[in-house]
Amino acid sequence: MSLRNTVFKLLRYSGLPWLIRETLQRRRVTIAMFHDIEAEHAEQVFGYLAKKFNVISLDDYLAARQSGDASRLPDKALIITLDDGHIRNRTLLPVLEKLNLPATIFLCAGIVDTRRHYWFKYKHPEIDTQALKLVPNHVRLETLARVGFTPEREFDSPQAMSKAQIQEMASRVNFQSHTTFHPCLHTCTEAEAREEVFGSKKILEQDFGLRINALAYPNGDYCERDIELIKQAGYDCAIAVDFGYNTLKTPAYRLKRLSVDDTDNVDAVCVKVSGLWTVLMWLAGKRRLKPHPQPLPRGGGGLHSASNGVSQVGMPPDLNDVSAPLPIAQVSRDQAPLPTGGGVGGGVVALGQPSNPKPFNQ
Ligand SMILES: [Zn+2]
Repeated sequence: MSLRNTVFKLLRYSGLPWLIRETLQRRRVTIAMFHDIEAEHAEQVFGYLAKKFNVISLDDYLAARQSGDASRLPDKALIITLDDGHIRNRTLLPVLEKLNLPATIFLCAGIVDTRRHYWFKYKHPEIDTQALKLVPNHVRLETLARVGFTPEREFDSPQAMSKAQIQEMASRVNFQSHTTFHPCLHTCTEAEAREEVFGSKKILEQDFGLRINALAYPNGDYCERDIELIKQAGYDCAIAVDFGYNTLKTPAYRLKRLSVDDTDNVDAVCVKVSGLWTVLMWLAGKRRLKPHPQPLPRGGGGLHSASNGVSQVGMPPDLNDVSAPLPIAQVSRDQAPLPTGGGVGGGVVALGQPSNPKPFNQ
């Protein structure tokens, strides 16, 4: 057994996850985040969650919020969510049916039912995906375009579910928005963020016939401006990857969620959905709990230009200059600080490997 697995096993049987579940999580709603979990493994993991928690739907939780009546929710309520709309999610339908569980899948409206690909899965030796999550959206797009990726490019095979697959699952699964093309919203201009927030809702409602009332922030990142846009677009809630559990009073556009890796075994899932793992990582200095960024400045002036002499707390230096060291405060919770002095060649963001290679939120 690997050291990692041994640590998770020890933590699981330490009794701490049980203690947390029976106290802190007992009268709160835990939201667990998956992405592209394999079906057979999902049966084990979801089956475990169903034994230890009462799995409810996101709509059950929203209805309880609206009524203000917490007694409508079971103790130890847990919501299963999956981000992005990966094509393999379609194989989860028999698992969810067999276990009789609801789940919410957050779709990228511009990628589902096409052969377009997720930008963060595009592999190229000159691309550092984590670095691209930290630069202004136009820099990310220009950088990707230089190495052959555009959001609209159609590849040979799809990475996301088709409309037919979504419709087949819709009786069991609640589909919601994960924006259109999955930029980190705070790196977008207001116009870009607006298009992602409003546009994805419109596509999913008009083209897919879905009722969209929730959005999951790409990479879990958001800023105040994004919340305003999401409210204006008519969403009832938005889901982050902020640490913690939810009550009826948790701000609706900052719902807390705990991340689980798709390949985590049941020991690791037990520890992670208790929140214990995030706390331990935080204590070890490997994770930040509350790092919400401001919108990134865009070059050439504008409201948020860093070069206009206006000092804003937490604002990074001009991020159009990708060689500039990024302040730690700007680094998202699950993103390791970038090594400074990384090479920038030919205008392509190539800041080297993140110092912490663990999986990131997507
Ligand atoms: Zn995502």
